[in-house]
Amino acid sequence: MAAICVFCGSSRTLDLGWLDLARLAGDQIARRGHTLVSGGGRVGMMGAVAVAARAAGGYTIGVLPEQLVALEIADLEADEQITTESLAARKTIMIDKSDAFLALPGGLGTLDELFEVWTTAALGLHHKPVVLVDCDGFYAGLIRWLSELVDSRFARPAAVDRLIVADSVPAALDAIEARLE
Ligand code: AMP
Repeated sequence: MAAICVFCGSSRTLDLGWLDLARLAGDQIARRGHTLVSGGGRVGMMGAVAVAARAAGGYTIGVLPEQLVALEIADLEADEQITTESLAARKTIMIDKSDAFLALPGGLGTLDELFEVWTTAALGLHHKPVVLVDCDGFYAGLIRWLSELVDSRFARPAAVDRLIVADSVPAALDAIEARLE
């Protein structure tokens, strides 16, 4: 059993398919016996993943900066809801409390969180799995550009390879579980 941190979009205007993907992630994390660590808001995919995890009997931890409590609507039903003084503190606590990271489709905030855990993993500052769910080719452009960074020697292959890419939520959780055994 692990604490799995999910990074994903908080936008209120997403297509229903992305919300379904978030629900699947929350549901599967809980059914596999893991704890969910999330951004602690009720909006967008972030809210959907936490609601689905609890509906499947899972334990959820939300981490929300005080400046965003109103904007992202604090998830008051979380089993643990932590309020931080800043966005930077939010990331630090999410990282400390988690054994692995799962990035679903998202926007700038998701990318910021993903790059933080990935670059620190690539530098050897932690050894926790970092998995990107590239569902329906959402991240195909990013993945292509990253391989060009390796070709042009701006990025080391080992650093890029530290990010595990999966094409579905179950495949992503399988990859995490295999690395935590
Ligand atoms: P987005 O992918 O832009 O919808 O954002 C997803 C989540 O990332 C939201 O909860 C944002 O508040 C959060 N976020 C945005 N910027 C940062 C940051 N610099 N550090 C931590 N979380 C952030």
